[in-house]
Amino acid sequence: MPTTMRHFLLSLALLAALLASGCRSASRDSGRPAPPPVEHAVVAGETISQVAEAYGVTVAAIVKANGLRSRSLHAGQHLVIPGGHPPELAAPAAPEPVVAAPVQPAAPATDWYVPRTAWAQRAIILTRTKPMGGVPTRITVHHSGDVGDAAMSPRRWLNEVDDQHMRGVGKAEPWACIGYHFIISADGQVFEGRPLPYQGAHAGWDEVNRLNIGICMVGNFDVSQVPGAQREALLTVLDRLCEDYHIARSQVFGHNHFKSTDCPGRHLVPVIEAYAHHASAASPNHALATVLPAQP
Ligand SMILES: [Zn+2]
Repeated sequence: MPTTMRHFLLSLALLAALLASGCRSASRDSGRPAPPPVEHAVVAGETISQVAEAYGVTVAAIVKANGLRSRSLHAGQHLVIPGGHPPELAAPAAPEPVVAAPVQPAAPATDWYVPRTAWAQRAIILTRTKPMGGVPTRITVHHSGDVGDAAMSPRRWLNEVDDQHMRGVGKAEPWACIGYHFIISADGQVFEGRPLPYQGAHAGWDEVNRLNIGICMVGNFDVSQVPGAQREALLTVLDRLCEDYHIARSQVFGHNHFKSTDCPGRHLVPVIEAYAHHASAASPNHALATVLPAQP
C-alpha cells in the first residue's frame, strides 16, 4: 500500500475515532476505552473488505461486532463499525498491519478550520453517508448563490443549510448533513462541513462526487466580486488540500466544469482557473498576484 494511502487511511481512522468520541484532541483519548462504534449503511456492490479498509478496521472486527455468518453484504444492510483499536487487535489472530501501525504524525493537520462540532446544532447522520473510499483526487469550488448569503452570520448560514440538506429540502432524499466538505465565509473564515472521511454531495451525481472535495464560497459571485479575505482563504485552503492529498492544481475545478451551471459565478471562475493553470504547485499565494484578475 502506498505511503499516501496509508496516511490517509490512518487519518480516516483517527478522524472516525475523534468524531465518535466528540473530542478534537487525540492525546486526551489515550488510555480510555475504545470509542463507541459508528454505523455504516452498505451500498450496492460494496464488499466487507472495502468497508473495513474505509474505516481502518479489520474484516474480522466487523464480522465479530455484527455476528455475521457470511462475509457477503447486501445493499441497505447496517453494520456496526467498532471504532478505535478494539482489544482483539492485540491478539495474534488479527494482525492486519494497517490498524496495527502507530498513528503517523504526517496525518494532515486539522487546526486550520473551524470543526463541524464547533458550529453544528445537529450531528451528521452516518447511515446516510458513504466513506470517501480513497485519497481525494480533485477539488470542486462552488458559490452558495443567494445574494443575501454573504451578509448573514456564517454560523447561522451553516446551520440553515445543514438543516435544509438534512431535511431533504429540494433533494430527492434527506442528506447526512451539508454536502460540502469546507465552507468559506465572506470574512475568510474556513468551516468544516461534511467531514472528509465521507463522500461529499455537491458536484451533481455519485460519479463526480467520488474522491472530490467540495468547497463552498458563501455569496453570489455572478453579482459580487470575491472579497479579498475570502479569496485569500480559498487559495490557502486549496494549497493545503493539494499538498496534503497530493492533488495536482489541474484537478481544481469550478462546479461549471462538471455540469451546465452558473456556479461558482463569473467573478470566481477566473480565480479558480488561474489557480488551476498556474504551473507550480509549491508556489506561495503571493506568486499568484501576477496571474489573478485584479480585485477592486
Ligand atoms: Zn455548485
